[in-house]
Amino acid sequence: MLSLANAFSDEELEDWENRNARLIPEVRAAGYTLEVKIDGAAVNLTYEKGHFVLGATRGNGTIGEVITANLRTVTDLPLTLKGDDVPALMEVRGEVYLPWVGFRRLNERREREGETPFANPRNAAAGALRQLDPTITRARRLRLFAFSIEVLEGSLPITSHSKMLAALERWGFVVEPHHRRVDSLAEARDAVPAYEAMLRKLPFQADGMVLKVDAIPLHEELGVVGGRDPRWAIARKFAPEVAVTQLRAIRINVGRTGALNPWAELEPVEVGGVTVSAATLHNEELIAQKDIRVGDWVEVVRAGEVIPQLVAPLREKRTGKEVPFVMPDRCPACDTPVERPADEAMRFCPNVSCPARVLEGIVHFASREAMDIRGLGYERVRQLLADGLIDDVADLYALSAQQLQAMEGFAATSAAQLVAAIAASRSQPLSLLLFGLGIRHVGKTVAQLLARHLGSMDALAAASQQDLASVPGVGPTIAEAVAHFFAEPRNQDLIGRLREAGVTFEEAQRIVTGGPLAGRTYVLTGTLPTLSRSEASKRIEAAGGRVAGSVSKKTSGVVAGADAGGKLDKARELGIEILDEAALLRLIGDAT
Ligand SMILES: [Zn+2]
Repeated sequence: MLSLANAFSDEELEDWENRNARLIPEVRAAGYTLEVKIDGAAVNLTYEKGHFVLGATRGNGTIGEVITANLRTVTDLPLTLKGDDVPALMEVRGEVYLPWVGFRRLNERREREGETPFANPRNAAAGALRQLDPTITRARRLRLFAFSIEVLEGSLPITSHSKMLAALERWGFVVEPHHRRVDSLAEARDAVPAYEAMLRKLPFQADGMVLKVDAIPLHEELGVVGGRDPRWAIARKFAPEVAVTQLRAIRINVGRTGALNPWAELEPVEVGGVTVSAATLHNEELIAQKDIRVGDWVEVVRAGEVIPQLVAPLREKRTGKEVPFVMPDRCPACDTPVERPADEAMRFCPNVSCPARVLEGIVHFASREAMDIRGLGYERVRQLLADGLIDDVADLYALSAQQLQAMEGFAATSAAQLVAAIAASRSQPLSLLLFGLGIRHVGKTVAQLLARHLGSMDALAAASQQDLASVPGVGPTIAEAVAHFFAEPRNQDLIGRLREAGVTFEEAQRIVTGGPLAGRTYVLTGTLPTLSRSEASKRIEAAGGRVAGSVSKKTSGVVAGADAGGKLDKARELGIEILDEAALLRLIGDAT
């Protein structure tokens, strides 16, 4: 499959035609097809005697992934084609996409569940196609537009791209409806403004228009540049849409570490088909650099990303009433004086009981990356804090289903599920508990190093700053932060209550010799059908294997479940064996 060269101006379109005309003068009279450039995931569909037999991702253009079962769940994909002129064997190229409405719904759900939202519909669509469980793909309700055919066997008496699109429609494919044929490049250029305006209103993400030389026989003559870009097609990309609106206020969000993050509250404005009322401002230096003042008219841009950016204030529209921004000296959530470490651009609220920090901290603790408590996202944590049922993460373990059921938004099932998810998190490995505690500078990798080298929470708490700094990969800054954390009486109390709650304090790093997995290292990713992450880890370790947090060349295998992400990609990239739960259990020898 090929990729497309880009043109960002009409002049670049002319250059493109001129280059082609130098090779083949007939190009100027061949006409062009204009199409919408859909921002989705490119797929390759093989049809044998009119039946869908194989589907693959584009991959690197030559080798993709087989995703036939997942593609079968896409409603726009015809499993059997209509008509008697379908070639015996052909590949149809298409773009799988997620409409804006489904994308927003998906991200809302992810945020509710404490998961990171997708950056754009393209990533969400590509992720859905790679699911190991087709029912998850089906639930995402992906759509598909077909746009070209490659005949492998049999014949297709079609000589123009525009007629090819008509054939695809006739056979039962969905073709993006805004395509048309024009006679010349001048006509194509005239159509550019209308396409640009139309793109903003489409119910899915599109980032430009595609021009293709209509006469198919010329495609082969024109050939491909650098093995990838066909000379006969080009994408005319449009600059991201900019909207102008008024900055109502600069608000502060207090993060889990206490960092004060400023963001812009905007007079709602439509940018690229979406109403925007907030934009990120990063930090106070950026606000000062751009001289952004409250009350300013500002330019806002949204280029495929979900989070809109504030580009610049329009100084010529100032009335003199705009107010320069001053970062507060006190935390907006708890009124504690903020600190600004000499080496950082951020200000911090130092109060560990700050309600904003507590909320973010509990959500982080429960997140999939840490203690993996499903169903405990912002909304519910906020509710539990407001109702006084919890003050910190240790309180989670005392929650009962009855207490939850009495709360708004909980039914018997959801209450029981949450209590069960909290109970299951007790057996998460010590390294994930450490990460979940949100100790400054202790990310997932550092948490693992500390847990493996010291072996238990007690050893960590007893370790001196020097002991900690002697752990390979742990420097003096981290050692100081960890020692500081364990020296704090409030944290000692928290650790004591987590111990009473029965949370795992030992790192299961037993090396079993002679087990079926002895000497092998596995990485777990995604949700397995029956085993929890920690159960799977225990089984692997009990069979003599090791469980690692990240995929490297030394990884023996990756055990992947539903919603597997980057680790699965990495494994594929490195050619590492990928197993599902059943395969793992067979290896261990206790498959049922
Ligand atoms: Zn605070």
